[in-house]
Amino acid sequence: MDVTFTPEEEAFRKEVQSFLAENLPKLGKTSRREFETKEDFLGWHRILAKKGWVAPHWPTQYGGTGWNVTQRYIYNEESARAEAPALLPFGLSMVGPVIFTYGNEEQKKKFLPRILSGEDWWCQGYSEPGAGSDLASLKTRAVREGDHYIVNGQKTWTTLAQYADWIFCLVRTNPDVKQQEGITFLLSDMKTPGITVKPIIVLDGAHEVNEVFFDNVKVPVENRVGEENKGWTYAKFLLVNERSGIAGVARSKKAIERLKEIARAETTDGKPLIATDEFSRKIAETEVELSALEYTELRTLAQESKGQMAGPESSILKIKGTEIQQRLTELVVEAVGYYAYPYDRFFGENEYVPGPDYAEAAAGNYFNMRKASIYGGSNEIQRGIIAKAVLGL
Ligand SMILES: Cc1cc2nc3c(=O)[nH]c(=O)nc-3n(C[C@H](O)[C@H](O)[C@H](O)COP(=O)(O)OP(=O)(O)OC[C@H]3O[C@@H](n4cnc5c(N)ncnc54)[C@H](O)[C@@H]3O)c2cc1C
Repeated sequence: MDVTFTPEEEAFRKEVQSFLAENLPKLGKTSRREFETKEDFLGWHRILAKKGWVAPHWPTQYGGTGWNVTQRYIYNEESARAEAPALLPFGLSMVGPVIFTYGNEEQKKKFLPRILSGEDWWCQGYSEPGAGSDLASLKTRAVREGDHYIVNGQKTWTTLAQYADWIFCLVRTNPDVKQQEGITFLLSDMKTPGITVKPIIVLDGAHEVNEVFFDNVKVPVENRVGEENKGWTYAKFLLVNERSGIAGVARSKKAIERLKEIARAETTDGKPLIATDEFSRKIAETEVELSALEYTELRTLAQESKGQMAGPESSILKIKGTEIQQRLTELVVEAVGYYAYPYDRFFGENEYVPGPDYAEAAAGNYFNMRKASIYGGSNEIQRGIIAKAVLGL
């Protein structure tokens, strides 16, 4: 594996850097913690869509950039370094690729351009109260009646469904066969009568996830992706993309830089924290882990450039990536010490928060990041996949 960049690739890096430098300042808010409205979430998406850079991983015929994997790597690295807002994955990285891989021509024409432009916001209707890790046991039922399915059931943990125009769902169309063989992949307009969204407030106080109820919801058969009862195949394809995307190597590299800045500013016994053996060792250990993960990611990208798509190996990226993300938020809390505490006391109040600016979000980020080892399939489940599908145990 050659990890040096060619002069052309360095020129591409410069192009990305100047685009970011010119366009990021146009956004009022860049951090997800500041986003309050749907438009806040979509600001960066719309700028990239205008430039034609919103879906670098899509085939060019559907609106991709035609970049090779190295260019995509450079683009991600530079975007994270410049702290560009992360794009929501539900349309671009989840249902979009399912539609262009398994959908029919009408579905491609109808949905893909609207995902690219940001006109349609998608959410993911996989998990149910009794079906998370054991996803194949899902019970939301779809019964065919003429040219519609009638859907009844409940989804849960549905991220940002409160803004969604569409939901992609796994539903049970045949309860009498092996679980995996009776599942269908349906697309539903969130405005359809019978769909109700109820908020779930997460540890840091944000309205990030929801319950979504289906009460006799009519979904046209034309909104079924692929074949009836073959949804498990499309569902697994989507999960591999989801897990690879969670690794977040480039963003963790930026987070380590930030942690080092904090550890330079904070002192203990009159000494910068970064100069203490204990804290610098913790940073170094995390940096080594991240470096190993980066090379694992580069290996999967090298394979991808030869036409081999990531498979169950994406579980390794997911586990290590999320462990590092969580560790980094722990180290920030440790570095800022008592200044992390006011978050809890003053959350939601309009009071002066003592301590440096970087301490304000420390506890919130720490609490929020506990989710990372659960979503996208918990890390215990990923270890099971590695044992079975990668190691053949
Ligand atoms: C913030 C957040 C956002 C999410 N967003 C979405 C979304 O948008 N759409 C969506 O569909 N889902 C979403 N999820 C759901 C997520 O995919 C599930 O929470 C996850 O798959 C775990 O399922 P569960 O919560 O039902 O836990 P359970 O499956 O009940 O698991 C409970 C615990 O038992 C462990 N466990 C279970 N089975 C095994 C086993 N066989 N071996 C070892 N350990 C096991 C798990 O690791 C876990 O620690 C989100 C979750 C979170 C936290």
